[in-house]
Amino acid sequence: MAKIALAIHGGAGTILRSQMTEELELEYRRGLEAALKAGWAVLEKGGPSLDAVEAAVVSLEDFPLFNSGRGAVFTSEGKNEMDAAIMDGKSLSAGAVAFVRNVRNPIRLARKVMEKTEHILLAGEGANQFAAEMGIETAPDEYFFTEHRWLQLQDAIADGRVQLDHVSEPAASAAGQSVRTKRNWPPANAGGSDLGTVGAVACDKNGSLAAATSTGGMTNKKFGRIGDTPLIGAGTYADDLCAVSCTGHGEYFMLGVSAYDVSARMRYKEISLEDAARETIARLTEISGEGGLIAVDTHGNVTLPFNSEGMYRGHITGNDNLMVVDIYS
Ligand code: ASP
Repeated sequence: MAKIALAIHGGAGTILRSQMTEELELEYRRGLEAALKAGWAVLEKGGPSLDAVEAAVVSLEDFPLFNSGRGAVFTSEGKNEMDAAIMDGKSLSAGAVAFVRNVRNPIRLARKVMEKTEHILLAGEGANQFAAEMGIETAPDEYFFTEHRWLQLQDAIADGRVQLDHVSEPAASAAGQSVRTKRNWPPANAGGSDLGTVGAVACDKNGSLAAATSTGGMTNKKFGRIGDTPLIGAGTYADDLCAVSCTGHGEYFMLGVSAYDVSARMRYKEISLEDAARETIARLTEISGEGGLIAVDTHGNVTLPFNSEGMYRGHITGNDNLMVVDIYS
C-alpha cells in the first residue's frame, strides 16, 4: 500500500511580505487548511487521488481570496474568464476547459470533459454549452465579483499593464510610489493578493496520481487569452511517475512545458521527484519565468519549489498526517 499524500497551492507570488497583515495571513491559511481537509478526507477513506484533487480545488475555487472560481481576476473588459484542467495519472487521461464564464467550479467541468467526451480541451462558448448539457452549476456575474479584483483591474488599466496574479515588484508611479500603495492596497476586508491560481496533486493508497489546476488567469489579460493552466504538460500534468500543478506567469510555463518537464527529467535522468522539480524551476528561472509548482510521486513524496517571493501552499503526507501550510520562503 502506498503512502497517501496531498499538496495544494493558492498561487505563487503572494502579497509582499511587507504588506501582509496578521489578519489576512490567517484568512489565507484558513482557505488552504479547508482545502487540505477536503482532499485529505477523500484519501483517508481510501478514495482515488482524482476525487481528492477535485475536492481540494473546489474548496479553493469557492474561497474568494484565490484567483479561481469565485474571486477570479478580471479581463480588460471586466469579465471573469476561467481556465482549469484535471489529469489522472493512472489512466493517462485528462480534461480541461479554457475561457469559460459563469461556471461556478470550472474544475468540475474539466472533469466532465475528461469523462464524457473524446476530447481533452473545450474552450469558450462550446465549453459553456457543454456545461449546460452536463447540468454543471453556473452562477451570475455578481457571484464572481470581488471588490479587490475589480480595484486590481482599475490599477492595471491605469498602468497599462497585463498583470499576473503575482506581482512581486509593484510598478512604480511617476511619484515613485506604487499605485497599489496609494490606494491602500490591499483593502483590509478583501485581502487582495496579486495572485492565486489554485491547484492540487495527490497520491492515493494504490499509488495512483492526479493533478488539478484552476485559474482566472491574469488581470487585464486580453480577450481570449488562455494561460498554461488548461494546457496539459504546461500547467498541469500527471502520469505513472508524478503529478504536477503549476502557478506563475503562464506564458513561461508554456515555453518551458514545465509540468511535463518534471516527469521527463524523472524518466530520462532517473532522478528523484525533488531533484527533477528543482531542475524544472531552475530552467524556468533561466528563461525568465516566475512562479512555482507542487508535485507528488508514487511513494507519496511531496515537493513544492518556487522562485517567487512566496507561494500559498500546503501539504499532508501519510508519514505523519501533519497539515503544513506556508506562504513565504
Ligand atoms: N498560471 C496562471 C496563468 O498564467 C496564473 C497564475 O498562476 O497565477 O494564467
